Amino acid sequence: MAGLAITVQEKVQDTVQEVMQTKVNLLGLTEVGLSDYMVSLGEKPFRAKQIMKWIHHMGVSDFNSMTDLSKGLRKTLSEQAQISAPQVVSQLDSVDGTRKWLLRVSGGSCIETVYIPEPGRGTLCVSSQVGCSLDCSFCATGKQGFMRDLSAAEIIAQLWLAVGSFNGFDPARKYADGEIGRITNVVMMGMGEPLLNFDNVVSAMNLMMDDRAYGLSKRRVTLSTSGVVPMLDRLGEVSDCSLAISLHAPNDKLRSELVPINKKYPIAMLLDSAQRYINGLSDNKRVITIEYTLIDQVNDSLELAEQLVELLRDVPCKINLIPFNPFDLSDYKRPSNNRVKAFQRVLNEAGFIAPIRTTRGDDIDAACGQLAGAVLDRTNRSARYRLKSRTALNGGDVEALVVDGSKSEADSDNILARG
Ligand code: SAH
Ligand code: SF4
Repeated sequence: MAGLAITVQEKVQDTVQEVMQTKVNLLGLTEVGLSDYMVSLGEKPFRAKQIMKWIHHMGVSDFNSMTDLSKGLRKTLSEQAQISAPQVVSQLDSVDGTRKWLLRVSGGSCIETVYIPEPGRGTLCVSSQVGCSLDCSFCATGKQGFMRDLSAAEIIAQLWLAVGSFNGFDPARKYADGEIGRITNVVMMGMGEPLLNFDNVVSAMNLMMDDRAYGLSKRRVTLSTSGVVPMLDRLGEVSDCSLAISLHAPNDKLRSELVPINKKYPIAMLLDSAQRYINGLSDNKRVITIEYTLIDQVNDSLELAEQLVELLRDVPCKINLIPFNPFDLSDYKRPSNNRVKAFQRVLNEAGFIAPIRTTRGDDIDAACGQLAGAVLDRTNRSARYRLKSRTALNGGDVEALVVDGSKSEADSDNILARG
């Protein structure tokens, strides 16, 4: 993984990117945005449809190749616009077919995207922010602190690059079942809290579901949230994607320890909001996916499984059990298979569908919660965690050494308030 030191070459790239930033990036524009842009150039709005097909169906980034546009328009676009994706720093392939990309975004940080092939489907796990401001206790991204939101172009670019990296762009291509490279699902479960980057995430998801772009079914585009309730209510007004709630605990005391945003938006408020979201969807067959990361001796007891059953009794949901994926800077442990299965059994016996998510891409650190990219952290949180863990290793007094914590927390609060 790339370190944080910025090389001369990277500095040059940043300068090039700054110059490019004066050009409009068409990659992240929805049909409405692109039509408005065409009109601003004195063109007919329907040009947007043609350009979208070139970009998202054919993977073309050079305006001169867009042969159904007039020469004049191609020239104007070459001067004023661009189709630009983050630079691929590395692409790693796991023995199980999982593929992980490290992408360098402007400003020097890196984000990660993961492709997971499964029988009958291929899922792309997409990042929404550089780092995350929410600091859940079990999440590697949270420990990296927060830098900035990704633009809509940087979000959709992850799908654009992934499609291009396998078999290229060919919407007519028929895939054999389970063939690697087929992307049928997108989950907003990479780095970041998608609801804290609302407009850009919604625009990118609209492109994912638009037939002129990727045409994915709304059932197969899933937003996962740790529970930013006001934004979840807003999502219901503008989107009909599928919903996953990162619950991880059946009571507020424990959940507030694991998922700090629970102090602001407790479980009852969150589940009400999720229920409203599902009720508002046009098809009544969809259920909420509840994500529950199982951490050894923390939230994996049978008593908590029973509490979870009570809590979710009337909630239309399925429960994804995710055995904790360890990473540096965390003392948590993954429970034994027996403990995971015993937890699952309680849920199954109460009638819940509760699959155990098998760990994928372990050999390339691509599993849930292991995505850390290389975030230039403006909250200072990552430095504090590294200091904490070093001090603990040396047997020192952790609290005494954690400096400047108040400033960092204030920064995170400001970031949260933006959402
Ligand atoms: N911010 C969003 C989406 C990104 S996290 C959210 O929290 O929902 C995607 C999923 O990975 C969440 O359910 C999260 O709780 C889970 N996760 C994070 N760290 C993990 C870890 N170390 N092991 C297993 N799952 C983890
Ligand atoms: Fe952010 Fe989600 Fe990780 Fe929590 S689990 S720190 S919300 S990315």
